[in-house]
Amino acid sequence: MNPIQSVVDLQDVDGRIRELEREAKDLPRRKAQESARLKAVNSSLDVAKNQLAAAQQRVAESESEATAAKDRVRELKILQASASSNKEFQQLSIAIEGLEHEAEEADARGYAMMDEIPRLERAVKEAEAKSSGELGGVNEFCAELDARLAEVKAELDRLAVERAEKAKLVNPRTLLYYERLRTKRWPVAVPLSADSVCEGCHLVVPPSTEQMVEHKMELVACTNCGRMLYRDL
Ligand SMILES: [Zn+2]
Repeated sequence: MNPIQSVVDLQDVDGRIRELEREAKDLPRRKAQESARLKAVNSSLDVAKNQLAAAQQRVAESESEATAAKDRVRELKILQASASSNKEFQQLSIAIEGLEHEAEEADARGYAMMDEIPRLERAVKEAEAKSSGELGGVNEFCAELDARLAEVKAELDRLAVERAEKAKLVNPRTLLYYERLRTKRWPVAVPLSADSVCEGCHLVVPPSTEQMVEHKMELVACTNCGRMLYRDL
Protein backbone atom coordinates (compact mmCIF):
# COMPACT_ATOMS: atom_id res chain seq x y z
CA MET A 1 0.00 0.00 0.00
CA ASN A 2 1.17 3.52 -0.77
CA PRO A 3 2.19 4.92 2.64
CA ILE A 4 0.38 8.17 1.92
CA GLN A 5 -2.92 6.30 1.70
CA SER A 6 -3.54 6.79 5.44
CA VAL A 7 -3.05 10.58 5.00
CA VAL A 8 -5.42 10.68 2.06
CA ASP A 9 -8.00 8.71 4.07
CA LEU A 10 -7.67 11.18 6.92
CA GLN A 11 -7.92 14.05 4.45
CA ASP A 12 -11.17 12.62 3.06
CA VAL A 13 -12.69 12.73 6.54
CA ASP A 14 -11.34 16.24 7.09
CA GLY A 15 -12.84 17.31 3.77
CA ARG A 16 -16.28 16.17 4.91
CA ILE A 17 -15.78 17.87 8.27
CA ARG A 18 -14.82 21.14 6.56
CA GLU A 19 -17.94 21.08 4.37
CA LEU A 20 -20.23 20.33 7.29
CA GLU A 21 -18.63 22.98 9.47
CA ARG A 22 -19.18 25.51 6.71
CA GLU A 23 -22.80 24.44 6.44
CA ALA A 24 -23.25 24.61 10.23
CA LYS A 25 -22.01 28.19 10.12
CA ASP A 26 -24.17 29.07 7.14
CA LEU A 27 -27.47 27.67 8.47
CA PRO A 28 -28.02 30.27 11.24
CA ARG A 29 -27.16 33.01 8.76
CA ARG A 30 -29.83 31.75 6.37
CA LYS A 31 -32.31 31.62 9.23
CA ALA A 32 -31.53 35.23 10.12
CA GLN A 33 -32.08 36.23 6.49
CA GLU A 34 -35.51 34.59 6.52
CA SER A 35 -36.47 36.39 9.71
CA ALA A 36 -35.37 39.71 8.24
CA ARG A 37 -37.47 39.06 5.14
CA LEU A 38 -40.52 38.31 7.29
CA LYS A 39 -39.92 41.47 9.28
CA ALA A 40 -39.96 43.51 6.06
CA VAL A 41 -43.27 41.91 5.01
CA ASN A 42 -44.75 42.64 8.44
CA SER A 43 -43.60 46.21 8.31
CA SER A 44 -45.47 46.78 5.01
CA LEU A 45 -48.55 45.39 6.76
CA ASP A 46 -48.04 47.94 9.54
CA VAL A 47 -47.75 50.72 6.96
CA ALA A 48 -51.00 49.66 5.26
CA LYS A 49 -52.80 49.44 8.61
CA ASN A 50 -51.55 52.87 9.65
CA GLN A 51 -52.69 54.42 6.37
CA LEU A 52 -56.16 52.95 6.80
CA ALA A 53 -56.40 54.09 10.43
CA ALA A 54 -55.30 57.61 9.47
CA ALA A 55 -57.92 57.80 6.71
CA GLN A 56 -60.63 56.53 9.05
CA GLN A 57 -59.62 59.12 11.60
CA ARG A 58 -59.79 61.91 9.03
CA VAL A 59 -63.30 60.77 8.03
CA ALA A 60 -64.38 60.82 11.69
CA GLU A 61 -62.83 64.27 12.18
CA SER A 62 -64.62 65.67 9.13
CA GLU A 63 -67.91 64.20 10.34
CA SER A 64 -67.57 65.75 13.77
CA GLU A 65 -66.56 69.11 12.26
CA ALA A 66 -69.65 68.99 10.04
CA THR A 67 -71.89 67.97 12.97
CA ALA A 68 -70.50 70.77 15.16
CA ALA A 69 -71.13 73.35 12.40
CA LYS A 70 -74.67 72.06 11.83
CA ASP A 71 -75.43 72.13 15.57
CA ARG A 72 -74.24 75.71 15.70
CA VAL A 73 -76.43 76.57 12.70
CA ARG A 74 -79.46 75.21 14.56
CA GLU A 75 -78.61 77.26 17.65
CA LEU A 76 -78.16 80.41 15.60
CA LYS A 77 -81.45 79.85 13.79
CA ILE A 78 -83.23 79.71 17.16
CA LEU A 79 -81.53 82.95 18.15
CA GLN A 80 -82.45 84.46 14.81
CA ALA A 81 -86.13 83.64 15.34
CA SER A 82 -86.12 85.91 18.35
CA ALA A 83 -83.81 88.55 16.91
CA SER A 84 -84.57 91.95 18.35
CA SER A 85 -83.41 93.95 15.35
CA ASN A 86 -83.01 93.68 11.64
CA LYS A 87 -79.27 94.25 12.06
CA GLU A 88 -78.97 91.34 14.47
CA PHE A 89 -81.02 89.18 12.10
CA GLN A 90 -78.66 90.08 9.23
CA GLN A 91 -75.53 89.38 11.29
CA LEU A 92 -76.89 85.98 12.28
CA SER A 93 -77.70 85.24 8.62
CA ILE A 94 -74.07 85.90 7.68
CA ALA A 95 -72.82 83.69 10.52
CA ILE A 96 -75.27 80.91 9.58
CA GLU A 97 -74.21 81.07 5.97
CA GLY A 98 -70.55 80.80 6.97
CA LEU A 99 -71.25 77.79 9.19
CA GLU A 100 -73.34 76.09 6.51
CA HIS A 101 -70.46 76.53 4.11
CA GLU A 102 -68.06 75.09 6.71
CA ALA A 103 -70.35 72.07 7.21
CA GLU A 104 -70.51 71.47 3.46
CA GLU A 105 -66.76 71.61 3.13
CA ALA A 106 -66.26 69.23 6.05
CA ASP A 107 -68.78 66.82 4.53
CA ALA A 108 -67.03 67.03 1.16
CA ARG A 109 -63.67 66.28 2.77
CA GLY A 110 -65.20 63.32 4.62
CA TYR A 111 -66.79 61.87 1.48
CA ALA A 112 -63.59 62.25 -0.52
CA MET A 113 -61.68 60.43 2.21
CA MET A 114 -64.35 57.73 2.45
CA ASP A 115 -63.82 57.00 -1.23
CA GLU A 116 -60.20 56.16 -0.39
CA ILE A 117 -61.11 53.66 2.33
CA PRO A 118 -62.03 50.61 0.21
CA ARG A 119 -58.69 50.82 -1.58
CA LEU A 120 -56.84 51.10 1.75
CA GLU A 121 -58.84 48.19 3.19
CA ARG A 122 -57.90 46.08 0.19
CA ALA A 123 -54.25 46.97 0.68
CA VAL A 124 -54.46 45.84 4.32
CA LYS A 125 -56.10 42.55 3.32
CA GLU A 126 -53.46 41.91 0.67
CA ALA A 127 -50.66 42.71 3.10
CA GLU A 128 -52.26 40.44 5.72
CA ALA A 129 -52.55 37.58 3.25
CA LYS A 130 -48.96 38.05 2.18
CA SER A 131 -47.77 38.22 5.76
CA SER A 132 -49.58 35.09 6.92
CA GLY A 133 -48.52 33.25 3.76
CA GLU A 134 -44.91 34.24 4.35
CA LEU A 135 -45.13 33.39 8.02
CA GLY A 136 -46.15 29.82 7.20
CA GLY A 137 -43.41 29.50 4.61
CA VAL A 138 -40.76 31.05 6.81
CA ASN A 139 -41.68 28.90 9.83
CA GLU A 140 -41.57 25.78 7.71
CA PHE A 141 -38.25 26.75 6.17
CA CYS A 142 -36.74 27.66 9.55
CA ALA A 143 -37.86 24.28 10.94
CA GLU A 144 -36.12 22.61 7.99
CA LEU A 145 -32.97 24.61 8.68
CA ASP A 146 -33.07 23.62 12.36
CA ALA A 147 -33.53 19.96 11.48
CA ARG A 148 -30.64 20.13 9.03
CA LEU A 149 -28.44 21.82 11.64
CA ALA A 150 -29.16 19.01 14.10
CA GLU A 151 -28.26 16.47 11.39
CA VAL A 152 -25.05 18.29 10.57
CA LYS A 153 -24.03 18.43 14.24
CA ALA A 154 -24.71 14.72 14.71
CA GLU A 155 -22.68 13.92 11.59
CA LEU A 156 -19.83 16.12 12.85
CA ASP A 157 -19.80 14.22 16.16
CA ARG A 158 -19.64 10.95 14.27
CA LEU A 159 -16.86 12.22 12.01
CA ALA A 160 -14.82 13.43 15.01
CA VAL A 161 -14.66 9.82 16.18
CA GLU A 162 -13.84 8.56 12.69
CA ARG A 163 -11.14 11.19 12.34
CA ALA A 164 -9.45 10.17 15.59
CA GLU A 165 -9.37 6.57 14.31
CA LYS A 166 -7.89 7.58 10.95
CA ALA A 167 -5.32 9.88 12.56
CA LYS A 168 -4.01 6.94 14.62
CA LEU A 169 -3.09 5.18 11.40
CA VAL A 170 -0.81 8.00 10.20
CA ASN A 171 2.85 8.04 11.15
CA PRO A 172 3.26 10.76 13.83
CA ARG A 173 5.85 12.83 11.96
CA THR A 174 3.68 12.85 8.81
CA LEU A 175 0.61 13.64 10.89
CA LEU A 176 2.36 16.62 12.46
CA TYR A 177 3.28 17.92 9.00
CA TYR A 178 -0.25 17.39 7.77
CA GLU A 179 -1.85 19.08 10.78
CA ARG A 180 0.39 22.13 10.48
CA LEU A 181 -0.16 22.57 6.78
CA ARG A 182 -3.93 22.01 6.74
CA THR A 183 -4.61 25.35 8.42
CA LYS A 184 -2.88 27.11 5.50
CA ARG A 185 -3.39 24.87 2.48
CA TRP A 186 -6.29 22.76 1.39
CA PRO A 187 -6.19 20.03 0.27
CA VAL A 188 -2.87 19.10 1.88
CA ALA A 189 -2.14 15.91 -0.04
CA VAL A 190 -2.51 16.23 -3.81
CA PRO A 191 -1.63 14.07 -6.80
CA LEU A 192 1.43 14.80 -8.88
CA SER A 193 0.43 14.68 -12.54
CA ALA A 194 2.20 12.64 -15.19
CA ASP A 195 4.00 15.78 -16.36
CA SER A 196 5.18 16.57 -12.81
CA VAL A 197 2.69 19.31 -12.07
CA CYS A 198 1.57 19.69 -8.45
CA GLU A 199 -2.22 19.69 -8.54
CA GLY A 200 -2.30 22.05 -5.58
CA CYS A 201 -0.28 24.99 -6.93
CA HIS A 202 -0.14 23.90 -10.59
CA LEU A 203 3.62 24.33 -10.81
CA VAL A 204 6.13 21.78 -12.08
CA VAL A 205 8.28 20.16 -9.41
CA PRO A 206 11.96 19.27 -10.00
CA PRO A 207 12.88 15.77 -11.21
CA SER A 208 14.35 14.88 -7.79
CA THR A 209 10.98 15.52 -6.16
CA GLU A 210 9.22 13.56 -8.85
CA GLN A 211 11.57 10.67 -8.24
CA MET A 212 10.76 10.61 -4.53
CA VAL A 213 7.08 10.53 -5.39
CA GLU A 214 7.74 7.77 -7.86
CA HIS A 215 9.46 5.78 -5.10
CA LYS A 216 6.35 6.20 -2.94
CA MET A 217 8.12 7.94 -0.11
CA GLU A 218 5.63 8.89 2.54
CA LEU A 219 6.36 12.57 2.90
CA VAL A 220 7.31 14.34 -0.31
CA ALA A 221 6.56 18.04 -0.19
CA CYS A 222 5.94 20.22 -3.24
CA THR A 223 8.96 22.52 -3.52
CA ASN A 224 6.65 25.44 -4.17
CA CYS A 225 3.57 25.10 -1.93
CA GLY A 226 4.65 22.44 0.54
CA ARG A 227 1.70 20.14 -0.19
CA MET A 228 2.23 16.42 0.16
CA LEU A 229 2.53 14.82 -3.25
CA TYR A 230 1.54 11.32 -4.27
CA ARG A 231 0.88 9.11 -7.28
CA ASP A 232 -0.91 5.84 -7.88
CA LEU A 233 -2.81 5.21 -4.71
ZN1 LIG B 1 2.48 22.67 -5.02
